Amino acid sequence: MASPKHFTLLIVGGGNAGLSVMNYVLRQRPNLKIGLIEPSETHYYQPAWTLVGGGAYDVQDTIKPEKKYVPDKVHWIKDYAERFVPEESAVYLRSGEKVTYDYMVVAPGIQLDWHKIKGLPEWLGKNNICSVYTPQTAVYTSQVMNNLSGKGKAVFTAPSTPVKCGGAPMKIMFLTSDNLRRRGLLKPGIVHYYSAGTVIFAVKKYAESLLKVVERYHIQTNFKHELVEVDGANKVAYFENRNTNPPERVAVEFEMLHVVPPQSAPDFIKRSPLAVPDNPLGWIDVNQYTLQHNRYPNIFALGDASSLPTSKTGAAIRKQVKVLADNLIYCVDNKTTELRSPKQYDGYSACPIITGYGKLILAEFDYTLTPKETFPFDQSKERFSMWLLKREVLPRMYWWAILHGRMQG
Ligand SMILES: Cc1cc2nc3c(=O)[nH]c(=O)nc-3n(C[C@H](O)[C@H](O)[C@H](O)COP(=O)(O)OP(=O)(O)OC[C@H]3O[C@@H](n4cnc5c(N)ncnc54)[C@H](O)[C@@H]3O)c2cc1C
Repeated sequence: MASPKHFTLLIVGGGNAGLSVMNYVLRQRPNLKIGLIEPSETHYYQPAWTLVGGGAYDVQDTIKPEKKYVPDKVHWIKDYAERFVPEESAVYLRSGEKVTYDYMVVAPGIQLDWHKIKGLPEWLGKNNICSVYTPQTAVYTSQVMNNLSGKGKAVFTAPSTPVKCGGAPMKIMFLTSDNLRRRGLLKPGIVHYYSAGTVIFAVKKYAESLLKVVERYHIQTNFKHELVEVDGANKVAYFENRNTNPPERVAVEFEMLHVVPPQSAPDFIKRSPLAVPDNPLGWIDVNQYTLQHNRYPNIFALGDASSLPTSKTGAAIRKQVKVLADNLIYCVDNKTTELRSPKQYDGYSACPIITGYGKLILAEFDYTLTPKETFPFDQSKERFSMWLLKREVLPRMYWWAILHGRMQG
């Protein structure tokens, strides 16, 4: 007999990916018995946090109650998923309760690993050490930026792990540079980019434009430099310079330090059988085209926690939702886990790279890093229209259409 907590479809994580796919599936199959495991009463529109950091968006407008997006007919379990037993199609909650499913979609997002940088957990949000990766520290970022004297260095970091929105480290750096320019404080030697990566952006077409922006703001770039320690009391950041062998430790004094933390799958995913075997970052092991789990075919995953080898963005999720939902619905309708002629995801992702107040380059590309542009003009040029898209149009689309499953693909 089915247990009281048994669902035809169980969703783990009601963020951008979980809500979008849940509501999209529900529109196609209104009678499906769906359970949602999501501990948070609050939903965040994270893509606007870079604008919050730049003082160009109210943080309150990035926050809405989760319940607005969970229809009454969905059974919402306000708890954390803790342990997966895929052989039994079961999930154990933090409360110890067991929930079972016929099919499951796993979308618990990404984990911010602040603790991997020595001194950072103690100093984040103090002494001009900031980050647009949380709403509170995004607000603090705008305060730090507005108080810069232009006498010390403004240092921006990017880690070696994948991060959500690969363009975010640059967006806040360009907004800070533009802020300094407007106040007559921008000059060579002020803004510094320390990235553990090797290039400014992976897609050549956009990288070329971005390098011109870097030059315009006199930004000094340092690649293959990983932030390893923060001394908040003395305002010194320590990097491992991997251009040398063995790597050398570099100390950089700063007036402002903007940190993008290393990121990985949440720990409960990493230690679960769902994770890619032997991968320290622990992403959920899915087929990159069908989004079906590589070993447990009644499980699907999408979004930041998945192993999909593309840039982790909400824009990518918009395309993943329809592919996943169509493949899942085929399985549900046919009571199978074998996909025939599955829908395929091509790795589409997009990054609206803010290059200043009122300026934006809209990068769009697929798994092969080939541009896949939406508009009939050259998107590698900075445009005011694309800034309006980011600031005015996309948030409305998100709250009204995407989360409600009204618009995907
Ligand atoms: C600063 C910043 C700028 C960004 N800019 C852009 C941009 O310009 N364009 C763009 O497209 N994207 C952007 N993004 C990325 C985008 O926000 C993410 O890719 C997207 O939110 C990921 O969706 P998700 O559902 O995978 O994860 P999330 O939206 O983070 O949701 C994960 C959910 O899982 C829940 N959860 C966690 N643990 C558990 C558990 N144990 N059990 C059950 N539930 C759990 C969480 O409470 C949360 O609700 C940006 C992100 C940041 C931080």
